[in-house]
Amino acid sequence: LVIKFGGTSVADIERIKQAAGKVAAEAKRGHKLVVVVSAMSGETDRLISLCRSVTPLYDLREYDAVVATGEQITSGLMAIALQQRGLRARSWQGWQIPMVSDTAHSKARLLRIEADKLRARLEDGEVAVLAGFQGVTEDGRISTLGRGGSDTSAVALAAALNADRCDIYTDVDGVYTTDPRLVSQARKLSRITYEEMLEMASMGAKVLQTRSVEMAMKHKIKVQVLSTFENGIGSDYPGTLLTDEVNMEENLVTGITYARDEAKISVIGLKDTPGVEADLFGPLSDANINVDMIVMNVADPAGLADITFTVPRGDVSRVIETLKTHKDKLGYQNVLTDTEVAKVSVIGVGMRSHAGVATTMFRTLAARGINIQAISTSEIKISVLIAQEYAELAVRALHAAYGMEKG
Ligand code: ADP
Ligand code: ASP
Ligand code: MG
Repeated sequence: LVIKFGGTSVADIERIKQAAGKVAAEAKRGHKLVVVVSAMSGETDRLISLCRSVTPLYDLREYDAVVATGEQITSGLMAIALQQRGLRARSWQGWQIPMVSDTAHSKARLLRIEADKLRARLEDGEVAVLAGFQGVTEDGRISTLGRGGSDTSAVALAAALNADRCDIYTDVDGVYTTDPRLVSQARKLSRITYEEMLEMASMGAKVLQTRSVEMAMKHKIKVQVLSTFENGIGSDYPGTLLTDEVNMEENLVTGITYARDEAKISVIGLKDTPGVEADLFGPLSDANINVDMIVMNVADPAGLADITFTVPRGDVSRVIETLKTHKDKLGYQNVLTDTEVAKVSVIGVGMRSHAGVATTMFRTLAARGINIQAISTSEIKISVLIAQEYAELAVRALHAAYGMEKG
């Protein structure tokens, strides 16, 4: 069994002791256990702001060296708390396993886990406590897996060890139709398909990191999301289970998400010639910047085009730098940045076979006077970019419009 505790579950010593109690209860059931811990809540933010306060364009290898320390502390503390309960426990840093990643520092991807050493210790009855979020590159540098990356550490270990289940303890008791902190009428889902969870995660429901869901889906890992505050343990009471079964009875829309950590960049007055998109987005992808929504308009009689796209807000300085470096080739006139935006998405496998889901979304937003700045769709989701000040209103209105409130 792999058990992951998020930041709130290890926020202070009292919580770490409570979490250790859950681990001990699972150990009594005879499970071989791997515990994956996040940093204490707020710690990763604090470490990031330390880097930023030196310079906004910090070296990402050193950023990783700094932010990985949060998890080192909690892994040691958790091992001590488990020993206190009479369990044999040992902490492991990402490099000690090793959890080998690529070199995309600050958002590295795991390439492989060499779990033989770990497996031997588990067989021997030791509880392994892994510092989540961390990896190590082939050349031995510490890497981190992006915000929320401990989820991915946990699911990746569950896959590597062929675990029975991966329990993700967090500060809510499951996955809801939308963020329960925003909409009190949100409904807890007993199950959700990998596919829907993948869209929800990548569209901003931070309850699971996107890559952890990708990995769970690929390796068919039984992932359960549950609350650290309840008394029970994952083997006894149900949180939300990720599955690949589609429940035909379910609503058209399963979830609504919002993401505030995006920024809108408009590149004005590009030459509208073949290849201009590749010239623009190529260098951004070379710089490891993920572009999400893209809107292009060619209204100008002089043959100039504007391209608007969204990127993670933390990457804006890098985007501007990259565009400046390539200005000669791109020949644009101006670059505008807007960080006061939010992306709101509706997600559900039901929309594959039903028309009208988008129309309901557009009508609902229009009725509230909310303007749509960009749209993107997939088979099972529709996303719109709107002014950030309307994000909460939009989520609540859509949640009601699709009849998703608890009964
Ligand atoms: P942890 O520190 O345990 O990893 P996170 O803060 O990363 O926890 O994720 C849990 C949070 O995700 C919840 O507190 C909740 O506000 C948020 N969240 C957003 N969307 C949803 C959703 N659809 N269902 C449940 N929680 C959600
Ligand atoms: N501590 C890291 C973060 O806040 C990783 C995690 O909690 O999953 O992003
Ligand atoms: Mg998280």
